[in-house]
Amino acid sequence: IVNNAPTVEELCSGLRNGNRSMLAQAITLIESNADHHFKKAQDLLQQILPFSGNSVRIGITGVPGAGKSTFIDSFGMYLCEQGIKVAVLAVDPSSKRSGGSILGDKTRMEHLSRSKMAFIRPSPTGGKLGGVHRKTKESIALCEAAGYEVIIVETVGVGQSEVMVRDMVDFFMLLVLTGAGDELQGMKKGIMELADAIVVNKADGDNEAFARKTKDEYNRILHFLQPSTTGWETRAYVCSSLYNKGIEEIWKTMERFIHETTQTGVFEERRRKQTKDWMHALITDQLQLQFYAHEKIKELLPQLEKAVVEGDQPVTSAVDLLFKNFYEKK
Ligand code: GDP
Repeated sequence: IVNNAPTVEELCSGLRNGNRSMLAQAITLIESNADHHFKKAQDLLQQILPFSGNSVRIGITGVPGAGKSTFIDSFGMYLCEQGIKVAVLAVDPSSKRSGGSILGDKTRMEHLSRSKMAFIRPSPTGGKLGGVHRKTKESIALCEAAGYEVIIVETVGVGQSEVMVRDMVDFFMLLVLTGAGDELQGMKKGIMELADAIVVNKADGDNEAFARKTKDEYNRILHFLQPSTTGWETRAYVCSSLYNKGIEEIWKTMERFIHETTQTGVFEERRRKQTKDWMHALITDQLQLQFYAHEKIKELLPQLEKAVVEGDQPVTSAVDLLFKNFYEKK
């Protein structure tokens, strides 16, 4: 059998040497749902793990059109100019895309995609659902082993994905647009309470004064909310991603955040909890994989599905039966 796929050793040394194509292939491997890839991917992770962890992990969310890609392009370029290597990953658990925009789309990060200091990974398209949490955590580790110092995880603000991303980054940023007072009041309190910073984008031209007013409104509301990170006061800021204004202040804020939370131990404690979460995500994935790959389950599932749908059997008893078969000695 001819097999051109790189070995675990080749992937490991390739990505450690800064080969972006090897890094991309490594991520493809861990994203794969195929059984034989799973084992290989875990071998690879085992090898790169000692080289991971050394980065600032930043989550960025916002509704479509808020300017996430434009912000990441400007912010990422600013970091590259400081000599900092940047990786951009996208998390998109929904199968349908809003407004046709693909997260992490390279063409939407025109400058950054041309930089040798940056690595951009678009969200996988279709048919790759499941294990999003684990796969993103593992992709972060791979990027870190490849020497990226800031990892940006982009997600669209539509619901569950923000919570997931908050749980795998150090700093979580909400990108918003200008709006009227009562509009902001109506914004989901839960989302605001996940954020370490709220950034009002498009503060340029005629919109600038309005953006500053919106920032003040947010600060008023934030005053009454629970902060996302112990000991850190979540504040609102303005920026113009298009005209590169306010970008530096945001990075300085992140640096201050890292410094302060490291001093208090909050940073390390969050990382430890995240590692534990990763372990559980892996357990869940592996159980699921084994369960659905089980011969007996594959055989029984279609008929039991039919039985519950047609009301011939209660769901609980069908599931009971499946588990009995799953645990039965072959
Ligand atoms: P995303 O869907 O959140 O990724 O948003 P995009 O980055 O694609 O931006 C949506 C639109 O807003 C695009 O037409 C951008 O050019 C525009 N845009 C983004 N940032 C700014 C900004 O700071 N100022 C202005 N005036 N327009 C912006």
